[in-house]
Amino acid sequence: MPRAYLKKASRTAQTGAADVGEAVRAILSAIESEGEPAARRYAAEFDRYEGNVVVTRDEIEAAARQVPQRLKDDIRFAHDNIRRFAEAQKASLSDFEVEILPGLVAGQRSIPCRAAGCYVPGGRYSHIASAIMTVTTAKVAGCGHIAACSPPRPGVGIAPAILYTADLCGADTILAMGGVQGVASMVYGLFGLPQADIIVGPGNQFVAEAKRLLFGRVGIDMIAGPTDSLILADATADPEIVAADLVGQAEHGYNSPVWLVTDHRPLAEAVLARVPALIADLPDLNRQNAEAAWRDYAEVILCDGRDEMAATADDYAPEHLSVQAADPDWWLGRLACYGSLFLGEETTVAFGDKASGPNHVLPTSRSARYTGGLSVHKYMKVVTWQRSTREAARPVAEATARISRLEGMEAHARTADIRLAKYFPGRNFD
Ligand code: NAD
Repeated sequence: MPRAYLKKASRTAQTGAADVGEAVRAILSAIESEGEPAARRYAAEFDRYEGNVVVTRDEIEAAARQVPQRLKDDIRFAHDNIRRFAEAQKASLSDFEVEILPGLVAGQRSIPCRAAGCYVPGGRYSHIASAIMTVTTAKVAGCGHIAACSPPRPGVGIAPAILYTADLCGADTILAMGGVQGVASMVYGLFGLPQADIIVGPGNQFVAEAKRLLFGRVGIDMIAGPTDSLILADATADPEIVAADLVGQAEHGYNSPVWLVTDHRPLAEAVLARVPALIADLPDLNRQNAEAAWRDYAEVILCDGRDEMAATADDYAPEHLSVQAADPDWWLGRLACYGSLFLGEETTVAFGDKASGPNHVLPTSRSARYTGGLSVHKYMKVVTWQRSTREAARPVAEATARISRLEGMEAHARTADIRLAKYFPGRNFD
């Protein structure tokens, strides 16, 4: 039996619309030529904010006093978990050296970027967790300077909990500047920042487009589209929990796809019946997002057994992949295309989004076919080196000279010749 759609999406997630590209190009160009005044002007226009841009220590301390102790404890708990995972990632990167020929040694080193710029979205929701994910990981990687920027709330600046979190996780400078103007300020080195070597973090289509346009001049983690999630559930799954998890991810945005893939029709039908009531029960903004996402982008797919379910999940290459099915080890070994995998009902995408350890900045829109999410590795350059004795240089120089001449690169060949003549005077090399 081929896959059957019990519910099919009427729309697919769009990224990189042409009008967004033009608008972002114009903002970047104005900020590049005019500098800080242009960035301030866009902050006033888009975020109705004309206050202090570089957050001061006093402002951070005042913000910390406003964050309830219980929330601080939760943020510290999440920070500890994300840091521990990032530290294990860093330990998995090991430098090495290998003797290629007697006397010719080559090696590899991982070196952190000197200046990282972390975008912490702040428009619709207050993304405390994004500050933890981006700043903590840059800190563990060992970046020399870590800037964080986030959109100020009209007239008042960055939300206190985001300020507290970015500072706790290790940001050296925090800018009250969002959107394209925030990204540009970090890339062009405005407001006293060093020019960023890499820009990371999720954001809306304007932020994603700014990263796309600036890529090359600066490194980026990835270009993120709307968040997406897929649940694989079999007859053992609890339909109440599956439905709650789908709604939990549909609340991200009106265009956030959620997909259920199952081989058990009664489960699919129970979930389809339950979701509308869960959405209707949400607060206004969340309900509007989830309603639109469920109506236009959600799918429920019935498969013939777990092999077909796994193949379907790999085709969708979701950002988040939750398995609520028997035999988690089988799924772990079989699944190949996802940003982050959640095995069993006891873990869920929201745990990973907020607090459990692995990073939540993940590839969307099927880019999990070719990349994973944000990790310590994204902030590190894997570079190589070599050194040689004069004796070991001889065969390499001879081969280099011959290859270079065949390629027509005479000056290259002579860099080899000059060494052979110096190290082995009087000897004739062809
Ligand atoms: P945001 O911080 O990304 O964007 C707000 C900024 O958008 C504002 O500061 C403003 O400068 C700019 N902006 C708004 N309208 C504009 C316009 N017309 N022209 C130019 N700039 C404009 O916050 P958001 O909008 O709430 O979006 C947050 C995004 O981050 C969502 O798409 C969410 O799904 C995503 N997110 C993803 C993850 C993940 O890991 N994948 C995690 C958290 C958030």
